[in-house]
Amino acid sequence: MTDLQNIDVTVVKGIGKETAVQLADMGIHSIQDLMYYLPYRYDDMRVRDLADVQHDERITVEGKVHSEPSLVFYGRKKNRLTIHLLVDKYLIKAVFFNRSYLKGKLAPNDVITVSGKWDKHRQTITCSHIVFGPHQQVTPFLPVYPVKGNVTVPALRRYIENALQKYGGTVGEILPKAVRDRYKLAPIQDALAFIHFPKTEEEMKQARRRFVYEEFLLFQLKLQVFRKMRRERTRGVGQDYHLKQLKQFISTLPFSLTNAQKKAVNDICADLKSPYKMNRLLQGDVGSGKTVVAAIALYASYTAGFQGALMVPTEILAEQHAESLSKLFANTDLTIGLLTSSVKGKARQEILERLQNGEIDILVGTHALIQDEVHFSNLGLVITDEQHRFGVEQRRVLKEKGENPDVLFMTATPIPRTLAITVFGEMDVSVIDEMPAGRKPVETFWAKHEMLDRVLSLMEKELNKGRQAYVICPLIEESENLDVQNAIDVYNLLANHFHGRFHTGLMHGRLPSSEKEEVMKAFSANKIQVLVSTTVVEVGVNVPNATFMLIYDAERFGLSQLHQLRGRVGRGSGQSYCILLADPKNETGKERMKIMTETNDGFVLSERDLELRGPGDFFGKKQSGLPEFRVADMVHDYRILEIARADAIRFIELDEFWQDDEYASLRCYLEESGAMSGEKLD
Ligand code: ADP
Ligand code: MG
Repeated sequence: MTDLQNIDVTVVKGIGKETAVQLADMGIHSIQDLMYYLPYRYDDMRVRDLADVQHDERITVEGKVHSEPSLVFYGRKKNRLTIHLLVDKYLIKAVFFNRSYLKGKLAPNDVITVSGKWDKHRQTITCSHIVFGPHQQVTPFLPVYPVKGNVTVPALRRYIENALQKYGGTVGEILPKAVRDRYKLAPIQDALAFIHFPKTEEEMKQARRRFVYEEFLLFQLKLQVFRKMRRERTRGVGQDYHLKQLKQFISTLPFSLTNAQKKAVNDICADLKSPYKMNRLLQGDVGSGKTVVAAIALYASYTAGFQGALMVPTEILAEQHAESLSKLFANTDLTIGLLTSSVKGKARQEILERLQNGEIDILVGTHALIQDEVHFSNLGLVITDEQHRFGVEQRRVLKEKGENPDVLFMTATPIPRTLAITVFGEMDVSVIDEMPAGRKPVETFWAKHEMLDRVLSLMEKELNKGRQAYVICPLIEESENLDVQNAIDVYNLLANHFHGRFHTGLMHGRLPSSEKEEVMKAFSANKIQVLVSTTVVEVGVNVPNATFMLIYDAERFGLSQLHQLRGRVGRGSGQSYCILLADPKNETGKERMKIMTETNDGFVLSERDLELRGPGDFFGKKQSGLPEFRVADMVHDYRILEIARADAIRFIELDEFWQDDEYASLRCYLEESGAMSGEKLD
């Protein structure tokens, strides 16, 4: 195998120096690269009955040239060749653009095979491909590859065909026989031949299945080995928490934990106890009860004699968390400190001192927690909430404040399982996929803009019941200024509309943070009933009396973001409503609105979002960090991904894996990928 990696592509017939440069630009350097450059689709060259073909489909037909082809020149240097072709009983037209030389090669009664796009109304094929002769001579599936520069698809096909002919028989197998047998996967040499030049659909599928599995397995092995190595090298502290005391604490909670919460608590406690450093992601939809789980974890750590830190993205959230923790810990002698940038002077000094001498057991705060002046006496557990809001750097600094503390990341952005096991493959993941009993799902409606009056009267009905409302303003991409302007316009409209009856407040990203906090506090205290806001309100604020949300131009938001926004309501016992004001222009937009009205389940939504947007787009292009697979598709091949992952986890625990010849190629691959060092993985 390594041989082929070292043989330059120029040994292949037809590849000269110049072509080699062009191929290098496509990432093809060696024979191995060339043979592993896989098609992303095939042109189906099988002959079909014209009666079954839909308009605009690609087809291949065999026919007899009926009359002298006619050639028409037009524009500058352009021409069109039209052939009347008798296909079975149909007389159709076959059109070629700018291939005038074909005229001399075709005469009436010649049998040819052509393929191209079928215009059903005009009974015409716009041809891309011609074979002078009957169909038997045509390959049933023509591979199509992504190409760049001067490299054409037909040329690449030839290069690959030549390479396969000459070297195909020497390609080494990376998958152990036992694995291939188990899943009936084609051996590599067959698979390569099948994937490039399949003779049947079955061969095509067979080959694809093998490469998908191979790709996923290699990827998962890399992740799992990396994780194992890192785990073994970063020793944390085993936190010997007090089980009885912990159970006692859990029994004082005003509700019993959901099964999903219990499972998460167990996962976390096992991590705390183990000598390895916890590196866990806790995923749970808004309102699924992550805070309690965090509190239990913090309490466990406390009973083992450690301090804990809870870091959140905004001051309001810090205050809210400090408050809810104080309530939960009311019957314990645990001490909570709050540190934000508005804690200043003497008060700040005092907190810092009490933290350093161990009087404060749990410190809640914003990024103020990671400043140099903050020193813990014995930090054992760090929890960050809404982790997607923090930079990696901030999390690292915080981790370094303790002696390898255990780390728990919490996020309310449900990440489809599919992505979770790839993106967070090197993290452990706990999922709270169950809501506490008795939650009323938010009733969601989709309204057109012309219905705004009716929406506002619905809103007023809620306000009259003493409830509060959020109004989320349109999002203008790439222009915060316009966002702000929009918010101001909507604010003016509503302030005017509700004048004398309800108080309207305005919130947007351009307000100084002190003012933002002030507005939020006023809303919290019900001094403001209608809060007009840009998406800054998205992050986990909790105002249970708010039961109504109106989202302007909802089609501009992604599903996950809409769901996140909607999570601001439905937090109390009253029925809540969310109105999506939207006139989506395309099907995807309509589909999104429909999905929102159909489900409140963040995980279902995230899966649907992923389907609509595709994996690359899911996290936004810039930060996607998603691995790119050649053949595999994380969404559609999810089943295989799960199997490969389970296999990878199992393999690396087997002695055979590390010793037997069968696995030597896989070990070699891992060695080369750098995963064995456990230091960095890209
Ligand atoms: P999250 O942070 O996941 O959005 P919270 O932890 O803020 O959710 O919980 C939302 C609300 O649900 C809180 O008021 C909390 O007290 C309550 N809650 C949490 N767990 C349960 C449970 N098992 N049964 C009933 N209510 C619960
Ligand atoms: Mg929360």
